[in-house]
Amino acid sequence: QIAEWRKLRDEPTVSADGKHVELAANIGTPNDVAGVIENGGEGVGLYRTEFLYMGRDKLPSEEVQYNAYRTVLENMNGKPVVVRTLDIGGDKELPYLDLPKEMNPFLGFRAIRLCLDRQDIFRTQLRALLRASVHGNLRIMFPMIATLAEFRAARDLLLEEKAKLKAEGQEVSDQIQLGIMVEIPSTAVLADQFAKEVDFFSIGTNDLIQYTMAADRMNERVSYLYQPYNPAILRLIKNVIDAAHAEGKWTGMCGEMAGDSTAIPLLLGLGLDEFSMSATSILPARSQISKLSAAEMKELAAKALQMGTAEEVAALVQRTAQ
Ligand code: PEP
Ligand code: MG
Repeated sequence: QIAEWRKLRDEPTVSADGKHVELAANIGTPNDVAGVIENGGEGVGLYRTEFLYMGRDKLPSEEVQYNAYRTVLENMNGKPVVVRTLDIGGDKELPYLDLPKEMNPFLGFRAIRLCLDRQDIFRTQLRALLRASVHGNLRIMFPMIATLAEFRAARDLLLEEKAKLKAEGQEVSDQIQLGIMVEIPSTAVLADQFAKEVDFFSIGTNDLIQYTMAADRMNERVSYLYQPYNPAILRLIKNVIDAAHAEGKWTGMCGEMAGDSTAIPLLLGLGLDEFSMSATSILPARSQISKLSAAEMKELAAKALQMGTAEEVAALVQRTAQ
């Protein structure tokens, strides 16, 4: 089996009936890029930049960030790299920011909420990204977007920094795609409106499931409610993908669900364009997809959307698509 996967390393990802999708990797540091290449990743679908900010005693400078982003872009050699701006808070804390303890950190002051408030932190990251953009195929993605106003505010800060850099004589790419994570139900529901303004969506199922089911993703006692195959989740995913396609945009997924062999047939059937997962899952996923018919998976997904429970959906997939 390993030998079969190896052969797929430099191949595109194509279903048995000829539908193309992209398999990308989630990374946390520039060192992870070697594993992406090694495993045949077609891009980076999620670069979690939190790690640049963690494990140190002060904020990373623009220069430190620029070097990290540039290294990833150069080593990916023109393949797309989706960099997610700072997503701190919730389970990820930064001691040196000295933020007050919250009763519900997963529902609190985190990610884009913090960045829009602490513009000094956000602008530094945006400048580093913009400067690095000329070294590869950069896509920028904002985390935890709950409203259009948040997206517009973040985009405007990006455009302001871009204009400033250009006025300073710095080169900045004009090809940067700008997208959002869809990991809050309000955004998944209102995807048609977002799709008019963003270049792409990436569905963050780790959080989307927790927020939709109201079940803390870290709490063992409610883990039975953490249900990727719940038809409610599948309907949200479908809504996002359809909304993007109606505007000629693409949708990826960078939560754990994207690399799950039970979810993959459903996601292929729902029309997901890009799957971003841990690097070691890429070749098994490419092999799995090469044996699936996208047309048949579309029918499978249509059936799943009409079911009432996650168990029924999982049983349907096991029976017909594995
Ligand atoms: C997600 O929420 O699905 C996601 C990819 O982001 P993180 O796991 O970093 O919260
Ligand atoms: Mg998340």
